[in-house]
Order: sequence, then C-alpha cells, then structure tokens
Amino acid sequence: MSWEESAPSKRNCPCGIGLYLVIDRSDDWGRHDERWEMHCSACREEYGLFSQHYNRKGMSCTFRGWVRKEIIDDLHATFVRLETAKKKLADRMYSRFRSVWIDHFHRKTKKATWSELTENGKRYPSLSTFYTHVRESSLDDVLEGYFRYPSLQTVIRVLKVRDSDFHAKLAEIGALEKEHETKESRARQLAFV
Ligand SMILES: [Zn+2]
Repeated sequence: MSWEESAPSKRNCPCGIGLYLVIDRSDDWGRHDERWEMHCSACREEYGLFSQHYNRKGMSCTFRGWVRKEIIDDLHATFVRLETAKKKLADRMYSRFRSVWIDHFHRKTKKATWSELTENGKRYPSLSTFYTHVRESSLDDVLEGYFRYPSLQTVIRVLKVRDSDFHAKLAEIGALEKEHETKESRARQLAFV
C-alpha cells in the first residue's frame, strides 16, 4: 500500500534564516505519519530530528522537534547503554536459570502456571490471552519469553532469586531508565518545533 503525501507545510528553521518542511503522509489503511525535512544548511549541521513516541488516551502519538546534535547523540548513547545492560542481564539469567525455570512449572497445570506468573491475574496477561499464547507457540516458548526485561522481575520473584548481584544489576538498569527518561524529557523541552 502506498503512502500519499500532502503538500509540504513550510516552517521557519531554528536559526530563522531558512526553512524546514513538514509533509503529512497517509495510506489507505488510515495510517498517518509525518516527514520532516531540514532545508537550511546551517541548521542541518547543528540540529537533528528528535522524535518521541507516547500514548495519549490509547492513541499512539509521536512528538517531533529539532534538537542540537550533541543532545541527540548523548540521548542515543544512554539508550544504547540501557539496552545493552538489559540484554546482558537477560542473557546471564537465561543461562543460569533457564532449566530451573522450565522445571519449576513442569508438573503444574496451565492455570496454576498462569496464576503464579501473574500473581493471580494482577499482571499481564489475562488467563485467556495466556492460553492463546500457549496454543500459538508452546508453553516452553512462553516461559522462555520471560527472559526479557522487564519480565526478568517475574523470574526473580517466582524462583525467589536471592543472589544480590542480580538485584544490583536490576537496580542499575532502573537508574539508567530514569536517566534516559530525564534526558528525553529535557530534549523534548529544548526541541524547536
Ligand atoms: Zn536555519
């Protein structure tokens, strides 16, 4: 399905000498998107396009704005550190606990397994969604899916992992997440639109 593009709307660039263009795009499926193009060479040197996805009343929205490149680079570096830390912890926990985790649920009914994973329905998924997931893949696949952040918390809770190293790593990731969030909202505040 092809995207249809609107006539570009012209806006002043951050330095005020040139322009940037915003082009609305939509397709037959009712999807909307925007393309932002910087047409000022001085601003193209200095600024990058910052975008942030968020939810408003169940609708997924995107905020866009021009932000200095060093801020975008720093934000990206923080994001990479965060994702690397999550992946590293997930890999370590997978090799250490994978078989214990699968064995833990071995003789339990699917409903008992769901109940333990969700603390009796306090968290995602609902029982019917859980059954669907198990039917669509397999119980082992669903269980292995817990070795991804933030579900690692569930593995730690269910297996009663005491090892302080894992808890320390989780706290570190939590702090990195906060740092990334703070930097992101700062970039949004500074963004030129
Ligand atoms: Zn400019």
